[in-house]
Amino acid sequence: MEKNYRRCASCRLVALKSAFWRIVKVHPSQQVQLDGGIGRSAYLCPQKSCLDLAKKKNRLGRSLKANVPEEIYQKLGQRLNDEL
Ligand SMILES: [Zn+2]
Repeated sequence: MEKNYRRCASCRLVALKSAFWRIVKVHPSQQVQLDGGIGRSAYLCPQKSCLDLAKKKNRLGRSLKANVPEEIYQKLGQRLNDEL
Protein backbone atom coordinates (compact mmCIF):
# COMPACT_ATOMS: atom_id res chain seq x y z
CA MET A 1 0.00 0.00 0.00
CA GLU A 2 1.50 3.28 -1.20
CA LYS A 3 1.49 5.95 1.50
CA ASN A 4 3.60 8.61 -0.17
CA TYR A 5 1.02 11.36 -0.28
CA ARG A 6 1.89 15.04 -0.39
CA ARG A 7 0.06 18.36 -0.62
CA CYS A 8 0.44 21.07 -3.26
CA ALA A 9 1.73 24.31 -1.71
CA SER A 10 -0.65 26.33 -3.91
CA CYS A 11 -4.00 24.59 -4.33
CA ARG A 12 -3.70 22.15 -1.39
CA LEU A 13 -4.53 19.18 -3.54
CA VAL A 14 -3.36 15.92 -1.99
CA ALA A 15 -1.90 13.33 -4.33
CA LEU A 16 0.90 10.86 -4.64
CA LYS A 17 4.31 12.40 -4.19
CA SER A 18 5.28 11.31 -7.69
CA ALA A 19 2.52 13.48 -9.20
CA PHE A 20 4.16 16.70 -8.02
CA TRP A 21 7.18 18.82 -8.67
CA ARG A 22 9.44 18.73 -5.63
CA ILE A 23 11.29 21.83 -4.49
CA VAL A 24 13.93 21.21 -1.86
CA LYS A 25 15.85 23.38 0.53
CA VAL A 26 18.95 21.25 0.81
CA HIS A 27 20.48 20.67 4.19
CA PRO A 28 22.91 22.02 5.30
CA SER A 29 23.69 24.42 2.44
CA GLN A 30 20.14 25.93 2.48
CA GLN A 31 20.28 26.06 -1.30
CA VAL A 32 16.89 25.73 -2.97
CA GLN A 33 16.82 23.27 -5.86
CA LEU A 34 14.46 21.05 -7.78
CA ASP A 35 13.71 17.34 -7.62
CA GLY A 36 16.47 15.84 -5.55
CA GLY A 37 18.29 16.35 -2.30
CA ILE A 38 17.83 15.85 1.40
CA GLY A 39 16.14 18.63 3.29
CA ARG A 40 12.89 20.50 3.72
CA SER A 41 10.60 19.99 0.73
CA ALA A 42 7.61 21.66 -0.85
CA TYR A 43 5.41 20.25 -3.58
CA LEU A 44 3.55 21.78 -6.48
CA CYS A 45 1.16 20.43 -9.10
CA PRO A 46 2.92 20.51 -12.46
CA GLN A 47 0.59 23.12 -13.89
CA LYS A 48 0.68 26.83 -14.64
CA SER A 49 -2.02 27.88 -12.21
CA CYS A 50 -0.20 26.39 -9.23
CA LEU A 51 3.16 27.70 -10.37
CA ASP A 52 1.78 31.21 -10.85
CA LEU A 53 0.05 31.20 -7.48
CA ALA A 54 3.11 29.86 -5.71
CA LYS A 55 5.20 32.65 -7.16
CA LYS A 56 2.66 35.40 -6.54
CA LYS A 57 1.98 34.40 -2.96
CA ASN A 58 5.46 33.10 -2.19
CA ARG A 59 3.97 29.77 -1.15
CA LEU A 60 7.20 27.90 -1.72
CA GLY A 61 9.26 30.41 0.17
CA ARG A 62 6.93 30.23 3.14
CA SER A 63 6.77 26.49 3.10
CA LEU A 64 10.53 26.13 2.85
CA LYS A 65 11.33 29.11 5.06
CA ALA A 66 13.82 30.22 2.44
CA ASN A 67 14.16 32.60 -0.47
CA VAL A 68 13.20 30.86 -3.68
CA PRO A 69 15.39 32.12 -6.53
CA GLU A 70 13.71 33.42 -9.67
CA GLU A 71 15.64 30.71 -11.50
CA ILE A 72 13.54 28.02 -9.82
CA TYR A 73 10.33 29.51 -11.19
CA GLN A 74 11.90 29.92 -14.59
CA LYS A 75 12.97 26.30 -14.69
CA LEU A 76 9.51 25.10 -13.75
CA GLY A 77 7.93 27.40 -16.31
CA GLN A 78 10.30 25.98 -18.89
CA ARG A 79 9.14 22.45 -18.03
CA LEU A 80 5.59 23.48 -18.79
CA ASN A 81 6.67 24.95 -22.11
CA ASP A 82 8.58 21.81 -22.97
CA GLU A 83 5.43 19.74 -22.55
CA LEU A 84 3.40 21.79 -25.01
ZN1 LIG B 1 -1.75 22.55 -7.04
